[in-house]
Amino acid sequence: MAKTILVVEDEKDIANIIIFNLERNGFETLEANDGPTGLKLALESAPDLILLDVMLPGIDGFEICRQVRAQSQVPIIMLTAREEETDKILGLELGADDYVTKPFSNRELIARIKANMRRFSELPAVQEKETVRGIKIVEESAAVYKDGKPLDLSVREFDILSYLAAEPGRVVSREELMEKVWGFEYYGDLRAVDVAIRRLREKIEDEPAQPRYIITKRGLGYYFARN
Ligand code: CA
Repeated sequence: MAKTILVVEDEKDIANIIIFNLERNGFETLEANDGPTGLKLALESAPDLILLDVMLPGIDGFEICRQVRAQSQVPIIMLTAREEETDKILGLELGADDYVTKPFSNRELIARIKANMRRFSELPAVQEKETVRGIKIVEESAAVYKDGKPLDLSVREFDILSYLAAEPGRVVSREELMEKVWGFEYYGDLRAVDVAIRRLREKIEDEPAQPRYIITKRGLGYYFARN
C-alpha cells in the first residue's frame, strides 16, 4: 500500500515540485499551504510521514512539530533554510526526526524519506524481552517499558536505544549511530545524535544528568551500560 506524505509548505512552487517528485516515486501526498491546515491534516489524516517547513503563515513549523509530537510518533522531517543553523537543532529538540536543508535535491529528499520510514528493518535484534535494570525492550511492538510502565519514545529514540542495548558495553560512535539509525546515504549533522540522546535520556533515566543506562564515552561515543 502506498505511503502517504503530508507536505506542509507555503511556497506553492516548492510544494508543487516536492509533490510531483513524491508522486513520481510512488508516494501519495497531502498538501497544506499554511500552518493551521498543516496542523489539522497532521493530526487528523494520519500521514505516514510529514515534511514540515519552518516559516509558515498562521502557525510555524516548530509549533506544529511540538503539537504533533505530543500526540503522535509519526516521522517528521523539517525543511530548513541553509542559513538558519539554530532552526535545525530547535526542530530536533521539539521532536523532529530529521531535517533537510533548502535547496535540496530530489534524490536527497527521497533518500531521507525512505531512511526515516525504514524504521527498524536494518537494526539488530535485541535480546528479546530481557529486562535490564528495569528497562524492557520489545522489538516487535517497538515498545519500551521501565519498571513495567510504557515509555513514550519516538521512532528514532527507540531505534537508538535498541541499537545500543543490542550490545551492552560496546561504545558506539556518533558516526555509526548516524549511519545505522538515521540511515543516511551520507553523513548528516552529528549534533542530531547528541540531541536525540539527550531526549532519550530525559525519558529513560531517573536523573538525565547522571545517566545509568546510556553512558557517554567522552570523545568516542555512547554505550548502553551492562549494569
Ligand atoms: Ca515557508
